[in-house]
Amino acid sequence: MNDIQINAAFDSGNIEVLSIDGATARLTIRRDRDSDFFQWFHFRVSGAQGRELALTITGLNASAYPRGWPGYQVCVSEDRQFWRRTESHWDDGLEGGSLTVHHRLAGDLAWFAYFAPYSMERHHDFIARIAAADGVEYRHLGKSLDGQPIDCLEMGDGGMQVWLYARQHPGETMAEWWMEGALELLADHTSSMARELRRRCRFHIVPNANPDGSRRGHLRTNAAGVNLNREWHDPSAEKSPEVLAIRNAMDASGVDFAMDIHGDEAIPAVFLAGFEGIPSLKQEQRAGYNRYAELLERRTPDFQTAIGYPITRPGKANLSMSTNQLAERFGCVAMTLEMPFKDHDPAPNQRQGWSPERSKQLGRDCLGALLEWLVDRDPA
Ligand code: ZN
Repeated sequence: MNDIQINAAFDSGNIEVLSIDGATARLTIRRDRDSDFFQWFHFRVSGAQGRELALTITGLNASAYPRGWPGYQVCVSEDRQFWRRTESHWDDGLEGGSLTVHHRLAGDLAWFAYFAPYSMERHHDFIARIAAADGVEYRHLGKSLDGQPIDCLEMGDGGMQVWLYARQHPGETMAEWWMEGALELLADHTSSMARELRRRCRFHIVPNANPDGSRRGHLRTNAAGVNLNREWHDPSAEKSPEVLAIRNAMDASGVDFAMDIHGDEAIPAVFLAGFEGIPSLKQEQRAGYNRYAELLERRTPDFQTAIGYPITRPGKANLSMSTNQLAERFGCVAMTLEMPFKDHDPAPNQRQGWSPERSKQLGRDCLGALLEWLVDRDPA
């Protein structure tokens, strides 16, 4: 039997082939450029001809989040539209930590990824579609190190300055799927919820804060190997122009409410992280954050508050992270939303785990919770 072919030479691709023997392959993940981080993979298999594939990704004990692999199932698609999970076996004692997938294809081709990919080509299609909607203004905030645009979409006439931004960590593609759900709702003039949100708020939305890492198939960093969510205290044109551009625009508008959208490798649940350790923490600010979490939890079974990161002790916040920096800098309610690479265990889905479809629905639910939160504060 002929050998299968494995290829990742495309937008957001990442894999290196160690060996191929028939339908069996040993693989490894390429590190982010000038960095030790790796965990994102996205590749294509061809020549499979209905055979059962055995694909082993090796060396994963050295990946960014080894705790991400136990209980994780690989995402696979044969049409690049619908992504489902396939049985995956983790063995921390084999070849430096290995994940093996046995998968039988219906056809000749399949795509495998850490999560349903969100390429820069899809990003441009998305920006074009939303920017063309009535009442939406496109704004170019700056350029990345590779020269790609930092895109921002703005809308609404209200006084409440709302900033939503995603994919500082480019491998966390669920964050841009969330953006699709949120922006499709906000740009929809038939939605009374969207009209009311736009009456009350001015929205500033950055669907992809790290286009270079996204196109290069990185997990966590930009083209210079810099983790953008450790740059917010002191962004620079040389290392982190993406953050510099976004933070300058925030300084110009002010920020009342901010959400930074992420994915978490290890924790099988959707959760929020706040800013409890900032030096200037105000009671009302913390109450606003807690109230938002309460409203979102009431609204959807795809969110919970029991599982999450430990709360930072008073005064110990890391101000290089955007949520802490914005809460400190503007006295606003800011939060980091984390979605799982695995599944949301309180409401599991056997076939897909956490998925693009659920990420989009959560985007809509987060805006619904925001409207309730705003009405609480100002019923008019
Ligand atoms: Zn992240």
